Amino acid sequence: MVLKLAVQKGGRLHEDSIQLLKDCGISVKNGHNQLKSTAENFPLEVYFLRDDDIPQYVEDAVAHIGIVGENVLLEKNKQVDTVEPLGFGKCRLSFAVPKGETYTNSTYLQGKKIATSYPFITQQFLKEKGIQAEIHEISGSVELAPSIGLADVVCDLVSSGSTLFMNGLKEVETILKSQAVLIKNKGLGSEQQQLLDKLLFRIRSVRKAKNNKYILLNAPNEALPKIFELLPGMKSPTVLPLAETGWSSVHSVLAEDEFWEKIEKLKQAGAQGILVVPIEKMIM
Ligand code: ATP
Ligand code: MG
Repeated sequence: MVLKLAVQKGGRLHEDSIQLLKDCGISVKNGHNQLKSTAENFPLEVYFLRDDDIPQYVEDAVAHIGIVGENVLLEKNKQVDTVEPLGFGKCRLSFAVPKGETYTNSTYLQGKKIATSYPFITQQFLKEKGIQAEIHEISGSVELAPSIGLADVVCDLVSSGSTLFMNGLKEVETILKSQAVLIKNKGLGSEQQQLLDKLLFRIRSVRKAKNNKYILLNAPNEALPKIFELLPGMKSPTVLPLAETGWSSVHSVLAEDEFWEKIEKLKQAGAQGILVVPIEKMIM
């Protein structure tokens, strides 16, 4: 019994997908022209595919699970379940127009020619807004379409916006925020589901650890109540007496997103010698 996982063969999601497995203690060898590989220490078979094909393969149970961008998942509109967001491959699907244009809202799009690799998502957006426009599906280099007279507007994936900028375009409206997600076949057998649960437990532990830091600090005992308020920790902080009387060492866990703000406040509250270290796994 093995769990079959589809990942992108190359491209933007490949390395992060393989790294996630690695962080979960699962090593996958992929020779460059290989379609399939077997993990060494987990009952997992990995298929390397074009990202466009992954939703279909998972719907058909050729692969039990897959890693794919939400953008591709929504565009392909296949019958699969989304299991977990994975926090990488972040991008957005946005409309962009030539720099000199004035765009106030989506009514601008009425009657326009729109070039995109995401005709389904684009059409859904236009329908919701009650807008009629002409959609031209193109599979790559969408950002060139306005300069060669193929379209007035593009609807394309953006991460920094520099590709749009270099092509004389500006991003005017985001219709989807996307990241890589883990998907699964709707009819998984109980044995595959058990393997998936095991994998998911590891993925969640790894992701939780990435979003948190371990913090150690010294403080005079009278500052401790204030410091405990700032540090929720997993349960409550660990406190150890220092050799110097009246001082303690405090250990706790801090979320990445509130990190800098908390550090400032801890210093103000009297914390000294603050050490921050990465956490490898976090088991809840
Ligand atoms: P494939 O050959 O597998 O079809 P592709 O060319 O369609 O590859 P990539 O460009 O490798 O796809 O992008 C894969 C996914 O990475 C996208 O579908 C999207 O979810 C994500 N992504 C993140 N940032 C960006 C970006 N700036 N531009 C495009 N995709 C991005
Ligand atoms: Mg693709």
